[in-house]
Amino acid sequence: MPLKLKILESVQLSKLIILGSGPAGLAAAIYTTRAGVETKIVEGPTPGGQLMFTSEVENYPGFPEPIMGPELMSLMRRQVERLGVEFIPGNVTSVNFTKRPFEINVGKTAYKADSVIVATGASAKQLGLESERRLRGKGVSYCATCDGFFFKDKNVVVVGGGDTAAEDAIYLSNVAKSVVLIHRRDRLRATKVIQDRIFKKGKISFFWSSIVEGILGEKKVEGVKIKELKTGRVYEYRCDGVFIAVGYAPNTEIFRGQLDLDEAGYIRVHDATRTNRKGIFAAGDVVDRVYRQAITAAGQGCQAAMETVRYLEYQEAK
Ligand code: NAP
Repeated sequence: MPLKLKILESVQLSKLIILGSGPAGLAAAIYTTRAGVETKIVEGPTPGGQLMFTSEVENYPGFPEPIMGPELMSLMRRQVERLGVEFIPGNVTSVNFTKRPFEINVGKTAYKADSVIVATGASAKQLGLESERRLRGKGVSYCATCDGFFFKDKNVVVVGGGDTAAEDAIYLSNVAKSVVLIHRRDRLRATKVIQDRIFKKGKISFFWSSIVEGILGEKKVEGVKIKELKTGRVYEYRCDGVFIAVGYAPNTEIFRGQLDLDEAGYIRVHDATRTNRKGIFAAGDVVDRVYRQAITAAGQGCQAAMETVRYLEYQEAK
């Protein structure tokens, strides 16, 4: 039997490859290219990252008027492109960080790099229901700003009690006929300013201390099965859409066994951005389970970049 060989299209060696094109990755690239380090960015599955799913951003300094998330990312990208960074479309499919230069595979193309900044961010968490998986894209959504439009004049529920759930409910209340926010506790965890906004919106109702036990419908969402935690009562509520906003998990599956991860899957760093492997740094939501803001991700991207530049200079001087 002929020996099957996996043939990679090409191998390219770089000084630095950044994985991810959200605020952390792009801010890092600004600093490394300006320091004279030839830099490539692997865009990842959502070029621009989570801000591409956000509507108005009013907490990123420099914009006196609110700016839409995608517009902010497009401006950041233009800034990076002007500096001459090369963008590689696609997802990292595997890495080998156990030898140098480090190996990064993007589909069939293999890249090698003297240093890496991991800025792969985080993705929306699921409730873990079988019905949720089955009806994903058929009424179950993790992105109100992407899919809200499809629920014009329909009845929707939002699950969660943080800033994302509250903002999603506010956004959907401008589109849908009715919005119910279902939260497992009896108060929101969302920040005060966002709470003030949601409680001012007339169209939003709240089902407190309640969880979604199942999503109803065969081919599309027809309702949810809700359990009231305080009374144990289980009942059905008819709706057309279910928006799940129960937090995020870091995108680190491909780094398992290659980098030190904590119990929730976040990359462990010391001195802000250093991973357990010399020459590999990490920044943004892939590391940060506390702040998770565009501004903190960008700031940490800057730190990772400065550490990387120092590392490369030290390697060259050796
Ligand atoms: P989050 O703050 O972690 O909140 C997740 C919410 O989902 C919590 O209310 C949690 O309940 C609930 N939850 C978690 N797992 C659940 C499950 N299995 N079933 C039911 N409910 C569940 O996540 P987030 O709202 O996505 O926010 C993430 C970060 O981004 C935060 O730091 C937030 O401040 C930031 N953010 C900021 C803005 C803004 O500034 N404009 C907008 C969006 C997000 P408990 O309350 O019981 O824990």
